[in-house]
Amino acid sequence: MAAKKAPAAKKCRPCKGTGEVSRPVVVGRKRRTVGHQTGMCLNCFGTGQAPTA
Ligand SMILES: [Zn+2]
Repeated sequence: MAAKKAPAAKKCRPCKGTGEVSRPVVVGRKRRTVGHQTGMCLNCFGTGQAPTA
């Protein structure tokens, strides 16, 4: 009997499994990027695992 591999939890793609995403902070009408802000990934809600549908 072949050992059945348990499927590893899929890593969330937008945050690469970290649960956090960095997004550019843009200001002004010219949309100048002043830096990056780290925020909770809204795709996995910070778990780092891709939500299973
Ligand atoms: Zn995520």
